[in-house]
Amino acid sequence: MAGRHFLFVPGPTNVPDRVTRAMMVAMEDHRSSKFPDLTLPLFQDLKKVFKSTDGQVFIFPSSGTGGWEAALTNTLSPGDKVLASRFGQFSHLWIDLAQRLGLDVQVLEEEWGTGVKPDKIESILRADKGHQIKAVLAVQNETATGVTSHIGEVRKAMDAAGHPALLYVDGVSSIGSIDFRMDEWRVDLAVAGSQKGLMLPAGLGFVCASPRALAAYKTAGLKRVYFDFGDMIKANATGYFPYTPALPMLYGLRESLKILFEEKLERVYERHNVLASGVRAAVKAWGLHPCAKEPKWYSDTVTAIVVPPGFNGADVIDAAFRRYDLSLGAGLSQVAGKVFRIGHLGDLNDLMVLGAISGAEMAMVDVGIDIKLGSGVAAAQQHFRSTIMAKEKKPTDQQQFAQLHPEGVLND
Ligand SMILES: *Cc1c(COP(=O)(O)O)cnc(C)c1O
Repeated sequence: MAGRHFLFVPGPTNVPDRVTRAMMVAMEDHRSSKFPDLTLPLFQDLKKVFKSTDGQVFIFPSSGTGGWEAALTNTLSPGDKVLASRFGQFSHLWIDLAQRLGLDVQVLEEEWGTGVKPDKIESILRADKGHQIKAVLAVQNETATGVTSHIGEVRKAMDAAGHPALLYVDGVSSIGSIDFRMDEWRVDLAVAGSQKGLMLPAGLGFVCASPRALAAYKTAGLKRVYFDFGDMIKANATGYFPYTPALPMLYGLRESLKILFEEKLERVYERHNVLASGVRAAVKAWGLHPCAKEPKWYSDTVTAIVVPPGFNGADVIDAAFRRYDLSLGAGLSQVAGKVFRIGHLGDLNDLMVLGAISGAEMAMVDVGIDIKLGSGVAAAQQHFRSTIMAKEKKPTDQQQFAQLHPEGVLND
C-alpha cells in the first residue's frame, strides 16, 4: 500500500526517523576506549526519565519481560511472599512469571477495567505483623485494559501500614509517557522497555533499582546469571557490559532520549494526555465506552474500547488492517473480542491520532457497528482545537475547553 502504515498498537510504537537513522551504524568494538563516551551518559540520562537521582539503572538486551525477571530474581529468595494485583493480561503475566520463579504470590483479583486498590494493600500489609510480605508488585499502566493505577497512592498505603516491603512497579507502557517518580514515590524497582514510550524497536529492558533494592540484592537467593545485577554494576561502572551489548539499540536510545529531553518530559506527559483525551472524546461521541470503568483509571497511553454486544473487536481490527493499513491493538485474554485498543503513545501528534480515529470509525461501520462516520473525528478535532486555543489564551475557547473537559489538563 502507498503511504505510511498507521501503527496504533500500544507497542511497538512508531520509531521516529531520527532514531532509525541513528541506529544505522557500522559495528564497532564494545571494548574500545571510546565506547564509554556513548554508554556512561545513557545511564545518567535514563535516570532522568525514571526521575531518580540515587537509583541504579540497568540496560538489558531483552524486552520488558526480561526487566520483570531481573527485578524479581535479583532481590528476592525462593518462597518469598509477594503481594500483587491482577486486573489485566500484563499484571497476570508478571504474576505468572513470579510464580514460576518460585515466589509465593498472594494475588489480589481486581475487576478488569479497574486497577491497584491502595486501601486493600494497606489492610493486608497492616495484618502482616511479622513482615512476611517482601514485595508489592504494581503495574502502573495495564496495557490490556487501558488502566492507569496511582503509584503515589500505593506508596502512601505502604507507609500508612508501616510495612517495609519493597515496591516493584511495571512502567513498561508508562515510563517516558505518563508521570512517574521513582525517588518521590520511593519505588524500589521500576521496569521499562524500549518499544513503548521510548520510541525504539523492542530489544532493551530497563530496570531502575533503589539503594534498598541494591541492599536486598546482597541476600537475594533466587538464581540468575544473564540478568545478574552484580555483573552489570561492575562492568557498567566504567561504561562496559558483561556481554556484547545491542549496539544499534544503544545509539537509538541516545537519540530517543535526546528527543524526549528536547520536548521536555512534562510536555511529553501533557501531549499524551491531550491525545488520550481526544481519543476518549471520540469514544464518547460514538456512544461507546472505554474498558476503564471510571475516569480515575483512564490511561493516557492506550484506550481499550468496548465493542457493542454481538460484535467482535477482532473483526474491527482486521477490517482496519486489511482495508485501511491501520494497526489497532487486539483484546487479550479475558477481554479478547470484547475490545479493540488504540495505542496513543510515543511519537504521535494530533493529526496522526485523528487518522487512527478515522480509520477505526470506517472499520467499525464496515463490520456493522452503528456509529456515525465522522462523529469521533469531529469530537477529537474539537478537543485538539480547544486545547490549542486555550493554550494560546483565546478566552472563548478556554471557556469551551473547561466545559468540554472539567477534569482539565492544561498547566503551563
Ligand atoms: C509491553 C508490556 C510489557 C512487556 O512486554 P514485552 O513484550 O516483554 O516487552 C510488560 N508490561 C506492560 C504493562 C506492557 O505494556
